[in-house]
Amino acid sequence: MKNKSKKPSEISDNEKLIALRRKSFDKTFVSIESGEAYLYKMLTDKQILRCLNCFKQTFVRCDNKRKILCLSCGRKQSFTTGTFLEDTRRASTLEYLFLVTLLEEGLQFSASEFSRHSTVAYSTSLNMLKKCAFVIVQSFPSEDELKLVHCTEIEKAIARRSSETPARAHPKAEQQEPSPEETIPPKTITKQITIESTGEVFSYEFPEILEKELAELTTQHLEIFATIAENPCYFDDLCARFKDEWSMDVAIKQSTLEVVGLVARRLDYLYRHPNSIPKAKAIGADLDPNLRKSILSFILEVFGGISQKASQLYIALHWICNDREYWSQGKLLHKILASPPVTDSDIRSYVSPQVLTVVNRKASAVA
Ligand SMILES: [Zn+2]
Repeated sequence: MKNKSKKPSEISDNEKLIALRRKSFDKTFVSIESGEAYLYKMLTDKQILRCLNCFKQTFVRCDNKRKILCLSCGRKQSFTTGTFLEDTRRASTLEYLFLVTLLEEGLQFSASEFSRHSTVAYSTSLNMLKKCAFVIVQSFPSEDELKLVHCTEIEKAIARRSSETPARAHPKAEQQEPSPEETIPPKTITKQITIESTGEVFSYEFPEILEKELAELTTQHLEIFATIAENPCYFDDLCARFKDEWSMDVAIKQSTLEVVGLVARRLDYLYRHPNSIPKAKAIGADLDPNLRKSILSFILEVFGGISQKASQLYIALHWICNDREYWSQGKLLHKILASPPVTDSDIRSYVSPQVLTVVNRKASAVA
């Protein structure tokens, strides 16, 4: 994987902001101990901690580290046991706190940007970011605020390989075309067209959006359409079939059909316009265009593309960065602390579904 390292002169405004936040964070949390004291307070204030033996919730700290003593049964445990922070190294605890601080502010940054302003390496940084995203995915709001979107709707953002990508294939190969269950049948209208000279009757399905245009067409227009739809042909052949009419008349009518979008033309060759044939749409093809734009530019600009495997996690990160109303101060930290442990193997084995979940809140327009 190519690693675009930035020269110091190219440090983005975004990174300057992260550097500033780091400075004030380091002032607040001067040591691992102070970070742990803060987390312990949060865990007890929010009544997240429970004794593994008697399930009571009153403790005292035994040392300056993580050991706590249950006041009911006298059992000792670590205050991170059973929480999101279980099995994290003490130094990482502080980095998680910093990561959550940045996310809560709605800052947009990649794993490499985060690692440059923390003590963790890139791979750990990526893992931490994904673990937080994993918790955000579990925090999606009620169903009526969610929208299902087929992954092919964001295929522009898929540019990185994962362990799931088939050998020698593009990362997009992980995506499958929508199955019938993942598509919405088109809204159609049926029109019967009679060919006057022969009395033949044809029946065609059209997308409902063409209803108005179809209503304005004459019988002759439709007859010309039926002729082309049955057998794509050259303009000259079409005129020959309507030999009783002036070719100029046929030309005008044919042009009308072209304008309306029923007929397409390549040079003089005429055929039924693909847009006039109803097609099933993938689930989520009607996603708010601003929201789609916002998701795509977030993924491409901040992360330079992602893998299909992790796409749901990045969509969750987009949500937290953009929905400042929902993600008020302290909310993410609470969700993270209240979350059961998310292990490295949870993250490695995580595979985004083909139909992704997006929080369907109005996105601000992207320039
Ligand atoms: Zn106990």
